[in-house]
Amino acid sequence: MALVFFHEQTIRIDALRILLKSRLVLGCLFAIALSITETKLKAQIDAAMGLKRLTQDQWTIITDLPIDREIESWPKVLDQALLSWCQKWSIDPATAKTWPLVIHCMADRKVFDQAGLLQGVPAFEDGIQIADKVFLREQPSSYYRRHLLLHEATHWVMYRAFGGGGSPWFMEGMAEMQGTHRWENGQLTMAIIPGDARSVPHWGRFKRLAESTAAMRMPSIKQILRYGNDRENRMDRYAWSWAACVYLCNHPVYGPFLQRASAAPLDYSMKLSEELEKSLSSRWEWVERDWKLFVDDFDFGYQPDSNPVALEGWAQGIGDFGSGEISLDADSANGWQFAQCFLKAGQQVEIRAQGTYVVRVVNQEAWECSPEGITYEYHRQMPLGKLLGGFVSADTSKPLEVFGVGKQALYEATSDGWLLFRINEPVGQRHDNEGKIQVRSRITSSQPR
Ligand SMILES: [Zn+2]
Repeated sequence: MALVFFHEQTIRIDALRILLKSRLVLGCLFAIALSITETKLKAQIDAAMGLKRLTQDQWTIITDLPIDREIESWPKVLDQALLSWCQKWSIDPATAKTWPLVIHCMADRKVFDQAGLLQGVPAFEDGIQIADKVFLREQPSSYYRRHLLLHEATHWVMYRAFGGGGSPWFMEGMAEMQGTHRWENGQLTMAIIPGDARSVPHWGRFKRLAESTAAMRMPSIKQILRYGNDRENRMDRYAWSWAACVYLCNHPVYGPFLQRASAAPLDYSMKLSEELEKSLSSRWEWVERDWKLFVDDFDFGYQPDSNPVALEGWAQGIGDFGSGEISLDADSANGWQFAQCFLKAGQQVEIRAQGTYVVRVVNQEAWECSPEGITYEYHRQMPLGKLLGGFVSADTSKPLEVFGVGKQALYEATSDGWLLFRINEPVGQRHDNEGKIQVRSRITSSQPR
């Protein structure tokens, strides 16, 4: 093994000096009150290899990249991440502070190889965690590099605290959840759902999910639970594992089942998946139905608390449609809303809708629209704000059917299932909506197949 010699050098960020300099440059005449924090990082430079080593408390960073402000901020990022994990997962912070982590941040893999730092490290694409070491390949954006750091550090803390990360989908899904973050004004927030693509350059998870769904490759929850560690379609599996974790962790009914199945100690086997499947076996079809509704709405700005989907509870006691009329006042700000009716295959239903509601507020000006929506803007090839119908088949092998309703529509059920409504607008843009749509439905022909 090659010996790496590190020449010691101290990098000091003197906030006062930066402040004085910037004031000179800007010619600023006003006194600015700032709390001055001095960050002291020890950096050691290996002149021969071009490797730098930064150590602060339990964190060591070894990199061949220039040590910029981003890399300098990592100990602080990790301090906050660790504190958050300790609170979230009831880990003793004093113990967690004694766990060392060495982060290898690599632009040129060869440099690390020559320094003997990759001995016993298998081939990997973006990142890998092995015991108290993580290895990261350079990424095209600072956001995505930090995302990868938090992803691998999640694997590390789960290995340290629980003995493992659980079945592959859970291990990767949790790492993706924690990795998806906001780092603003020195404050870290993990497990966010980004509000827009600009805040997470090169992340692309929603794009991947949409492409996969459009290509009819959306997996069932059962398929995700059985994901292995194969490298083929790796990024698709990561994105779907993340979506499944967001769905199950936040589900009002199934969330506690996942909590029980993922209780420590964990390993890396299929045990977690098997236990979850077993505990939910009698209601598994509902798990899959809600999953389809969740995926249809899951996008930038999704808020798990405000968009709960729990068809099983709604559908309790709902019998056949019969010949009566069903009415629903659909809220323009909400996601899929259950029409309290069960259709049999072959039944045709006439839907009528009316009402005026606000679909957007721009500069205090409210955009009002009717169930036909407004053709000024389109979403998924239909006018913004148009009333949509959704049909969840009792047959879980069938995808969610989404169709335009507008003021009036006829819908024929091709299988037994449930009818739902919402307006056509991306989830992240519905928060400023106001008003309800009166939806009335009645059976016009009933020829159950
Ligand atoms: Zn991973």
